[in-house]
Amino acid sequence: MRETLFVQRRAWLAGIIASVGLAGLVVTAQQAAPDPQTAVNTAFKQFQTLKEGKNADYIPALAKVDPNLFGIALVTVDGKVFTAGDIKTEVSIQSISKVFTMAQVIQEQGLESIEKRIGVDATGARFNSIIAIEGVRSVVGTGAPEMNALVNPGAISSTSMVTGATSDAVWNKIIGFHNDAAGRSLSVLQDVYKSESDTNQRNQAIGALMYAYGYIKTDWHQAVDLYTRQCSIGVNARDLGMMAATLAAGGKNPVTGKQVMDAAKVPGVLAVMATAGLYDDSGKWLYHTGLPAKSGVGGGIIAVSPGKFGIAVIAPPLDDAGNSIKAQRAITAISNALGGNPLAPRR
Ligand code: GLU
Repeated sequence: MRETLFVQRRAWLAGIIASVGLAGLVVTAQQAAPDPQTAVNTAFKQFQTLKEGKNADYIPALAKVDPNLFGIALVTVDGKVFTAGDIKTEVSIQSISKVFTMAQVIQEQGLESIEKRIGVDATGARFNSIIAIEGVRSVVGTGAPEMNALVNPGAISSTSMVTGATSDAVWNKIIGFHNDAAGRSLSVLQDVYKSESDTNQRNQAIGALMYAYGYIKTDWHQAVDLYTRQCSIGVNARDLGMMAATLAAGGKNPVTGKQVMDAAKVPGVLAVMATAGLYDDSGKWLYHTGLPAKSGVGGGIIAVSPGKFGIAVIAPPLDDAGNSIKAQRAITAISNALGGNPLAPRR
């Protein structure tokens, strides 16, 4: 009897030792997660030679950008910068600017300003859809469309909401906000601005329609022009990584230390990015990464792991949805290697 008890105790003890050992192993595995530079280098090597997709060409200047351009920048919320590839060459920021102009309006006028005037829902339509503006109105004569500030109609409207007595005054605020998030003085790529201004008749139609329906309450020509200019701001991968990190760090640029927007307002910005950041593939992207993100047809993508890091990749060839192929693959690989998914259990 005694012996049986002894054997039972021994088995019980062995069980405890085994599970403690297992827990130890799990901890070791977690500690063995790669450091950011290794994760960045590995993804760079893995995707460098990928030759899929095609530069956007509906804005003629974008077709001329080097399709082999590939740069990665990850910036932690405590200001450490990890990079690979070309982080100096600038491309036009394009739709990624929509995030920062929306953020600026939210900062100035509150979270409800964007929600009330534009909305925060997915449109279920292309980024420059006119049907999305019409919504059910064209069928039943009334009814508000589903809209958000990351598709063109909402973005042109949010640009129109930035206050200022003159076009220059509004522009200085828009570029100033982008500068603060990037931590340096950015400028417009004039060839892209001209190319897009010459070919943006569809965006002009969207601006006119948004004015007709009361979303734009100021000069819509000015709103479309400033929107086109903000899309032509030149950024490199490091700039975009810094802008993403500013959102990851609760609105504070982690290198300059400047509080660009109130921390309490950042989650609203991230929510719209999570809903509509990657065009028609926003759901798919969120499913695989959990990261609020925004892509632009210039080939950049920014993604935000709140409280941890911001990451950006520039690689111009896009997939059918309009998102950079290499950028999606590299960000997914790096973030998942570093435990960046905010929807996953904390580790
Ligand atoms: N300036 C571009 C346009 O309005 C931005 C498109 C984008 O990057 O999604 O068409």
